Amino acid sequence: MIDLFSDTQTRPTAGMRAAMAAAEVGDEQSDSDPSTLALCARVADLLGCEAGVLMPSGTMCNLVSILVHTRPGDEIVVDDQSHIYNTEAAGSAAIAGVSVAPLKTAAGVYTPEAFEAAIRPPARTAPRSALVSIEQTTSFSGGSVWALADMRRIRDIAHRHGLKAHIDGARLLNAVAATGVPAKDYADGFDSAWIDLSKGLGCPVGAVLCGDRDFIAEAWRWKYRLGGAMRQSGILAAAGLYALDHHLDQLAADNAHARHLRDLIADAPGLAIGAGAAQSNILCFSVEPLGVTGSDFAAACLLQQVRVRAIGAYEIRATTHLDIDEASILRAAAVIRAEAQRLLQGIGR
Ligand SMILES: *Cc1c(COP(=O)(O)O)cnc(C)c1O
Repeated sequence: MIDLFSDTQTRPTAGMRAAMAAAEVGDEQSDSDPSTLALCARVADLLGCEAGVLMPSGTMCNLVSILVHTRPGDEIVVDDQSHIYNTEAAGSAAIAGVSVAPLKTAAGVYTPEAFEAAIRPPARTAPRSALVSIEQTTSFSGGSVWALADMRRIRDIAHRHGLKAHIDGARLLNAVAATGVPAKDYADGFDSAWIDLSKGLGCPVGAVLCGDRDFIAEAWRWKYRLGGAMRQSGILAAAGLYALDHHLDQLAADNAHARHLRDLIADAPGLAIGAGAAQSNILCFSVEPLGVTGSDFAAACLLQQVRVRAIGAYEIRATTHLDIDEASILRAAAVIRAEAQRLLQGIGR
C-alpha cells in the first residue's frame, strides 16, 4: 500500500524506537523528565521562544493557546479551511467559549487586508476580536506556504488592534524546508507557535507549544486541567529529539516528492491541478472534470493500493512523508493517471 492519506501515517523507524527505549525519564508533571525538558528547550530555541511545553497533540496546542489568549465570548479569526475551524470538534466553542470568524480564502491563505477588515470595532454589542491564527503550512488547502512578509503584517495588525497572534505550525518545518526561512523568523513576535511531532517528523505522538514564559506558565495550567499532563513522557520526547536530529532533511525530500507527483500527473486528462499546487508536502487536485466525486476517485485508487484522501466533494489530497520514496511516487502517479483515464472513458473494471 502506498499511503498518501496523511503524513500522520508514518511509523516510527527502528532508530527512533531504539532512542525511545533508551530514553532517560522522570516525572513530566513536576518538570523532572530530562528528555522532555531537553525537547522543549530544543524546540523553543528552534522557534526563538523563551519556553515550550510538550502536548499530547497539536489539537491540544491550538485549544490551549485559544484558552490562554481569549475569554469566553471573544472571537478568533482563522481561515475557512483551517484545522481549528473544521476538525477540532469545535473545541474552541465547546471548551474556550469563543466564536470563530472564518475568512474565505483561496488555498487557506488570506490577505492582511482581509484580516484587518474582519477585526470588529469595539462595541458593547459585538464579540471582542481577540486572536488570529495562521496555519503554516495550510493543511486542507494543499500545503500552501505563507509568505513571511504577510505573516509579519498580520502579526503587526493583530497587535495594533490588541489581538494576539498564533501560528498553527503543524507543518511549519515543511515551510522551512520549502523556503529556507528559519523557523524562528516565521515565529518571531507571535504570541504562540507550535510544531507537530507526529506529522512529517515521523513520531508516534506529540507536539511542542512555545511562547514566552508567562504564556507557557498559563498553557501548563490548561494542559493540566485538560488532562494533558504526563509522567514518563521522555519516551515520547526522545522520539522528538531523534526526529530533529535525523528527519529534518527528509522534509525537503517530502516536498520534492509532492512536486514530482504533481509534475507526473499534471497533464492527465480529467484532473484539474491549480497553479500553486504542491508548495510543500501536500498536493491537492480536483477530479470534477472526470464527473466523479472525490470519494469515488479515492476508492478507485485504493483498489490499486494507492491511498489518497477525499477532502471536498471533488478535491483529492495526497500527502508525502518519510515512508514515501521515489518509487512510491512513480507508482502512485501511474495509478492516478490510469484511474483518471478509466473513469474518463467510463470503463468499468
Ligand atoms: C494535524 C494538524 C493539527 C492537529 O494536530 P494533531 O497532532 O493531529 O492533534 C492542527 N493543525 C493542522 C494544520 C494540522 O495539520
